[in-house]
Amino acid sequence: MTTTQDVNLRELAERAGRDLEDAPALDILRWAADTFGKKFCVTSSMEDAVVAHLASRVAPGVDVVFLDTGYHFEETIGTRDAVEAVMNVNVITLTPRRTVAEQDAEYGPKLHDRDPDLCCALRKVKPLEEGLTAYDAWATGLRRDESPTRAGTPVVGWDEKRRKVKISPIARWTQDDVDAYVAEHGVLTNPLLMDGYTSVGCAPCTRRVAEGEDVRAGRWAGRGKTECGLHG
Ligand code: SF4
Repeated sequence: MTTTQDVNLRELAERAGRDLEDAPALDILRWAADTFGKKFCVTSSMEDAVVAHLASRVAPGVDVVFLDTGYHFEETIGTRDAVEAVMNVNVITLTPRRTVAEQDAEYGPKLHDRDPDLCCALRKVKPLEEGLTAYDAWATGLRRDESPTRAGTPVVGWDEKRRKVKISPIARWTQDDVDAYVAEHGVLTNPLLMDGYTSVGCAPCTRRVAEGEDVRAGRWAGRGKTECGLHG
């Protein structure tokens, strides 16, 4: 059911998307922190901590939400732990209702190979949906140059599925912009980025990419799937 608050938030998002299209990432996040206060969070896959770092500069102690699917590389969990230890943010780890063992018992082993859409729905989409109920707005690290499916990402938009304002402060950044920010500020990054991975997701569904391949070519390779459902 659409509420008056939904309509107001949607109008706010659409207006901000137009007004902030050319604004620096820090200004976009400052607007989000000022507008939503504690009802604003950053989500992070722990591929890197760029958006969390940017947000911590304008909103120290900001909530950084991480989805622990139970299938992550140990390097990803290590990055989460390092972010929690050294950055001025409040890391919140969300977990699916079922452990991997419980999912295997109910749906059979390796659901990710047989029905990755269902696996992502159970281990990513649903937990995030539940975790975001405490917020009006969430920030992501989506960038337009990552893949054709992300080319139209607004810097601020309306997430109809979750009825939240969705903020992508580095949507206009390139990989070079990310690399420059990481180098300038010494931002934590997932060690797998130095080991042939250009996009880091769950271990069973992520492979290294070859020279010249799309940044996200290593995600669900050969399975006809490009997004987990968090952003679609
Ligand atoms: Fe399951 Fe793979 Fe989706 Fe992770 S990325 S939730 S393992 S299908």
